[in-house]
Amino acid sequence: MKKLKLAVIGYGGMGSYHFDHLLPNEGELFELVGVYDIKEDRQTLATEKGLKAYGSRDELLADPEIDCILIATPNDSHKEIAIAALEAGKQVVSEKPVTMNAAEMREIMAVAEQTGQVFMVHQNRRWDPDYLIVKELMNSGAIGDVFQIESRVHGANGIPGDWRRLKQHGGGMLLDWGIHLLDQIMWMVDSPLKSIEADFSTILGEECDDGYITYLTFENGLRVITEVGTTNYIRLPRWYVKGTQGTAEVTDWDLSGKMVVATNADVAAPTPIQAGVGLTKTMAPPSEAATKTLPLPKGLQLPQSFYQNFYDVIVNDGVPIVKNEEVLKVMELIDHIFEIVEKSN
Ligand code: NAD
Repeated sequence: MKKLKLAVIGYGGMGSYHFDHLLPNEGELFELVGVYDIKEDRQTLATEKGLKAYGSRDELLADPEIDCILIATPNDSHKEIAIAALEAGKQVVSEKPVTMNAAEMREIMAVAEQTGQVFMVHQNRRWDPDYLIVKELMNSGAIGDVFQIESRVHGANGIPGDWRRLKQHGGGMLLDWGIHLLDQIMWMVDSPLKSIEADFSTILGEECDDGYITYLTFENGLRVITEVGTTNYIRLPRWYVKGTQGTAEVTDWDLSGKMVVATNADVAAPTPIQAGVGLTKTMAPPSEAATKTLPLPKGLQLPQSFYQNFYDVIVNDGVPIVKNEEVLKVMELIDHIFEIVEKSN
């Protein structure tokens, strides 16, 4: 099997994560060759790790030895680098968010079409086990027909780093984490979007959103909340999913959680409980016979890792798991969310 030689532009946090954690698993498919980073200390680190540090981006792109480029720079530079790399005859992976907006993604897609080179976006959270559990719940009917999904990531560290706080670099949590949450939902729901409501959090006084919330309604009636927060000292569950026959919670990335489903047994009506200073039958817990608590399913498995799939698309003309048309659709949704929030201010 021919190994493809890969170099990274932008050897920061994520660029080095690809090199240290993702690509070594695919050592039969890819050989890691070199890097180009505008920061001297990152170039030095690369050479210490036995990689070639190219003197400039153009020098890297002109190297005929390099088959593939990974782009892991701040978001505002992805488009220009992607187009230059495609035009240099390279196969290209870009980190998410692919671009600042949908128009930029269309420009890249046009160049990929003209050059015939592969361009794929690292929407790696399609492989997250917590997400694949929810995707299975959607398909399996284990909690009946799913009619509401709440997908949240909550932290209490504010917006990390430097460029993520700045609009000109594509900062803010909608572009940073929202792109993952929305991509997951759009890849799971087989129904057109009917309506979108959205709001940003700017509690930290940064120029970019430090969190956001969206309410999506699909034509099949499914309601989805996605939320990112960076000022949440107590987290809500990663996923809360309601179906006509039960409720599931995936509490965290450690896959803790459970399903509680109706037994549909013929049971007596719940007896009222004391609630605060009042009495309630409506909110009384169901009797033991009325529900059963089950472990979460194992979750769907994807047939290939991201990089196995990237290789397959390049070498065998395989079908991409992350399709550019899907990425474009999510970027259009992101554009729309920015418009909604702008109009409401
Ligand atoms: P970072 O700041 O840690 O690293 C970015 C690196 O790019 C820095 O070393 C910087 O010097 C370098 N750089 C900046 N402009 C450059 C240019 N024009 N040419 C060459 N190098 C340049 O940021 P990061 O956290 O690694 O994020 C990089 C990208 O990866 C972002 O698009 C981010 O959204 C994405 N990311 C994805 C995931 C994921 O799970 N898929 C996780 C983290 C980051």
